[in-house]
Amino acid sequence: MSSNGQDQASPAAVKLPIYLDNHATTPLDPRVLEAMLPYLSTKFGNAASHSHQFGWEAEAAVETARQQIASLIGASAKEIVFTSGATESDNLALKGVAEAYQNSKNKDKGGHIITAVTEHRAVLDTCKHLQNRGHPVTYLPVRLDGLIDLDELAGAFTEKTILVSIMAANNETGVLQPMEEIGRLCRERGVLFHSDAVQALGKVSLDVNKLNLDMVSLTAHKLHGPKGCGALYVRADAPRVQIAPMIHGGGHERGMRSGTLNVPGIAGFGKACEVALQEMPEESCRLAGLRNRLRDRLLAELDDVLIHGSMEQRLPGNLNMSFLHVEGEALMTGLKDVAVSSGSACHSDKVEPSHVLKALGLDDDACGSAIRFGIGRFNTEAEIDYVAGRVVEAVGSLRDLSPAYEIAKKATNK
Ligand code: PLP
Repeated sequence: MSSNGQDQASPAAVKLPIYLDNHATTPLDPRVLEAMLPYLSTKFGNAASHSHQFGWEAEAAVETARQQIASLIGASAKEIVFTSGATESDNLALKGVAEAYQNSKNKDKGGHIITAVTEHRAVLDTCKHLQNRGHPVTYLPVRLDGLIDLDELAGAFTEKTILVSIMAANNETGVLQPMEEIGRLCRERGVLFHSDAVQALGKVSLDVNKLNLDMVSLTAHKLHGPKGCGALYVRADAPRVQIAPMIHGGGHERGMRSGTLNVPGIAGFGKACEVALQEMPEESCRLAGLRNRLRDRLLAELDDVLIHGSMEQRLPGNLNMSFLHVEGEALMTGLKDVAVSSGSACHSDKVEPSHVLKALGLDDDACGSAIRFGIGRFNTEAEIDYVAGRVVEAVGSLRDLSPAYEIAKKATNK
């Protein structure tokens, strides 16, 4: 029972359905919506119109947002290049650097790229594309806890390495990579360091100078901003990173990304970063508390469960667990008033074991019974308690029908 006397596991205490898929996307924060509204109505100017008030207002909004985003990652405003989202930012970073090297006097240095097997498809598929164009790519494995091995990274550099791309936080397991150490290894060797930091932005601290980051992919919709609006941080000095544009046109964004800017989206992205900067310390603690509450209850009330990825190096709002002898898809159907995910939403049309969980050494059964819980800003303790109760109930009912569970129980009782 809660302090107000309501049974927390009853639907009356919470509003259904419950959204617990905050790694796929996040609900818009009302403060973000408010910041966007003028640019969807009266302040509709094109930020590139330099000859009148409408353009100036739009440009001012873009420059405010550029500063707000830069402040969250310790960068300067001029280093933020707006894009349509992190998929585009990842493409621009990797292809942009590869092409710039090919066009430069340094082209003999080569085009070797190092990444990890647990990266998002936006990085892996771009690497595959570059491989088909003759760029050697090394895919680092990860340990059982989901972290890369720094000695393996150190051993993977060659004379020809131009770029390392390692995500700050994994979108399935929430595992945080040792960014400071990776940045140091890259800087010592004069190799550029790119990170897809989509899931980390606004959840854990991220300072481009402390981490020696040269490029960072960001997107608004994972921190309560709008969809279709992203950015690439591109270091301007020491070293000045050169990238070839992928989209040619009016020369916007200092020639790195042409196209009329999405002013309402950018204003919202900026506001989302401003809110995150103010609230991150307190919010991270609250999310970790909710996550641990869910984990502890599931561990206490269910057997044969596995937690995937390091619990120490992990996003505060992430929990990824397998409920053995239960099909993840069937469990999600059983949890119809709770929105969770059985893998990455970005390729959920493909029903195949998650490449991230496989890389952690899980077999197909464990992958197939995995559920990703993504807890976010608007989730409450009552919701977490309700979800825990529903999961325990649904796993129990599915196991009652599962011959595999019965066999496993008989085997352990012997
Ligand atoms: N990178 C990571 C780690 C993600 O989680 C996602 C979205 O799921 C993306 C990239 C793609 O971002 P966007 O939706 O902005 O293209």
